[in-house]
Amino acid sequence: MKIVDAKVIVCSPGRNFVTLKIETDEGVYGLGDATLNGRELAVATYLKEHIIPCIINRDPFDSEDIWHYLYRGVYWRRGAVNMTAIGAVDMALWDIKGKALGVPVHKLLGGKSRHRLLAYTHAQGKDMDETLQKVSDILNKGFKAIRIQSGIPGFEKVYGIAKDKGTYEPATTGGKPDEEIWNTEKYLAYIPELFQTVRKEFGKDLHLLHDSHHRLSSIEAARLGKELEPHHLFWLEDTVPAELQQNFEWIRRHTTTPLAVGEIFNTIFDCQHLITQQLIDYIRMTVAHGGGLTPMMKIAHLAELYGIRTGCHGPSDLSPINLGACLHFGTAINNFGIQEYMGYYPITMEVFDLKHKFEEGYFYPSEEPGLGVDMDFEKAGNYPYKKAFLPINRLEDGTLFHW
Ligand SMILES: [Mg+2]
Repeated sequence: MKIVDAKVIVCSPGRNFVTLKIETDEGVYGLGDATLNGRELAVATYLKEHIIPCIINRDPFDSEDIWHYLYRGVYWRRGAVNMTAIGAVDMALWDIKGKALGVPVHKLLGGKSRHRLLAYTHAQGKDMDETLQKVSDILNKGFKAIRIQSGIPGFEKVYGIAKDKGTYEPATTGGKPDEEIWNTEKYLAYIPELFQTVRKEFGKDLHLLHDSHHRLSSIEAARLGKELEPHHLFWLEDTVPAELQQNFEWIRRHTTTPLAVGEIFNTIFDCQHLITQQLIDYIRMTVAHGGGLTPMMKIAHLAELYGIRTGCHGPSDLSPINLGACLHFGTAINNFGIQEYMGYYPITMEVFDLKHKFEEGYFYPSEEPGLGVDMDFEKAGNYPYKKAFLPINRLEDGTLFHW
């Protein structure tokens, strides 16, 4: 089997997605998600100009060698744009292998380690009352695990909170990024009260998660973790900017609240120290931004040695192709923890078709050959790309801060 062509499809059914379609001489094609929120065209161009010419005539079954060719072979290693592009190629190759052999991808990665996969979704409200209502609505849909974000008294916009009644979508289509205002003290004063109220209203069986979006210092994260201990979170996510990994040593010394990080990591080297020193409980890298299934299996196996479980990033700003890949990954490995599932706009699902069944808070493994995700290429053409940016964040005195 040979790769004969590859196309990059950029579309915007509800939001921007970049898809790589690799075609073979036997008529089988594979799909990979190459979406990098707010920087979509950088990956699309990188694929078209620098990667596709190098994979023509290669055997798609040689996914390990092709991965190293694209990673080691370029000299310029790592980086979100590079690794998202490599990830899309790798995902598409596993899709081709599954389709050519007539088996779902999880069968090629290790088979079924479980018959269903726990998923969490987001409850977000502009204040305490609206947030509690959202938790109640989501519980009625059957979810067993919920990430809870809430507007903070005194702030107009807060990370994770939708501007209107719809799904949270931080990227905006103006000519420049939106600006938000932040105050850590107000946040730290409010969040423990939020979780105390949620536990009081909904009991102890529900899994509760929370995301600080990399905005705390290590000592602030330690304080928050400690104050949340009585409410037994499933995890506290992205407390500190993860470039300085020693931060996690400080946090770990002060709290037993489980810690999760990794959605912006893109290689095993970003999480090696955190895993081998057991500074986190969940590694949140996702297949698209982590360079594909090939390196993600190695990361999962390293984490397994240290009792650390996975929790793949699964926002609606990655396409259902990435979600499908994450679900095969989660089906096959022993140390799956949980899968994020924000859901998609109905028009996104006019273009993409995900075969994994979702019911009562769990995904069920797809038995379709390959990744079990397809795309209507004609309909994709009805939704042209719209330039969009993620917001930036400033402190109240104007200082640029972490978004
Ligand atoms: Mg996060």
